[in-house]
Amino acid sequence: INKCSECSYTTSTSNELQLHIRRVHNKHACLICWRLFGQKANRDRHLCLHTGHKPYKCDICGEKFSRGDKLKIHKKRFH
Ligand SMILES: [Zn+2]
Ligand SMILES: [Zn+2]
Ligand SMILES: [Zn+2]
Repeated sequence: INKCSECSYTTSTSNELQLHIRRVHNKHACLICWRLFGQKANRDRHLCLHTGHKPYKCDICGEKFSRGDKLKIHKKRFH
């Protein structure tokens, strides 16, 4: 279930939550971490952190990942 961080609204789809946030709170949410931004441009810039930047590094083989859960899966699978 997807829950709005600004109010008690919940929905089963992330699309609807995105619409809700845009309509009711006049904000744009990151689809990955659900952080809210007042401007779409700021949200888009933030999204690059998830897609381009890879802050999670495997301490065994050095491979980098954009998300902590991906690193966890990698470690389970390859080490
Ligand atoms: Zn809300
Ligand atoms: Zn995010
Ligand atoms: Zn590794």
